[in-house]
Amino acid sequence: MTIHVNPNPLATLDGCSKLDSCPTLVLNADFRPLSYYPLSLWGWQDAIKAVFLDRVNIVSEYEQVVHSPGFQMKLPSVVSLKTYIQPSRHPAFTRFNVFLRDKFSCQYCGSPSDLTFDHVIPRSKGGRTEWENVVTACSPCNLRKADKLPKQADMHPYHNPFSPTVQDLHRNGRSFPPNYLHESWMDYLYWDTELDP
Ligand SMILES: [Zn+2]
Repeated sequence: MTIHVNPNPLATLDGCSKLDSCPTLVLNADFRPLSYYPLSLWGWQDAIKAVFLDRVNIVSEYEQVVHSPGFQMKLPSVVSLKTYIQPSRHPAFTRFNVFLRDKFSCQYCGSPSDLTFDHVIPRSKGGRTEWENVVTACSPCNLRKADKLPKQADMHPYHNPFSPTVQDLHRNGRSFPPNYLHESWMDYLYWDTELDP
């Protein structure tokens, strides 16, 4: 099936001007995100395919409309799976998640800018690229520590690096939300916030 896009200038009002910027938030069958870190998002093509395969329910929609001969529909902004999937307890080991665990601050000096990563035990000394050995570090600290062990450099991370649970990241996540959050997602992302009276 070929789907053509109906250019809809009103869609810009919805924060979804280009199709690529209209991701669909994917909820599990219990209406919690399938994954928080990274946030479970599909491109609109995958979302529409899943609708047609009857694997998801549409929970919320963008104003943006796609159409092909004999058919048109609004792009889904939130869908929920019809079958519950057991979520993984541990978040993926990604750059964003390491920063999030460390609250986007250098683990040697606390700086929030020019952030990169440091291997606590340098790779040249057998250190692995894994949760327990990688911390957020600013470039100056990274350069200063260079290829040295914490003792040799007299630089010790504020917190020993660890493999976080989803809950650990969730505690920090509210202060550092992803760049793009559509308003229709909020009820599902922050379900544990207090409701407005
Ligand atoms: Zn630093």
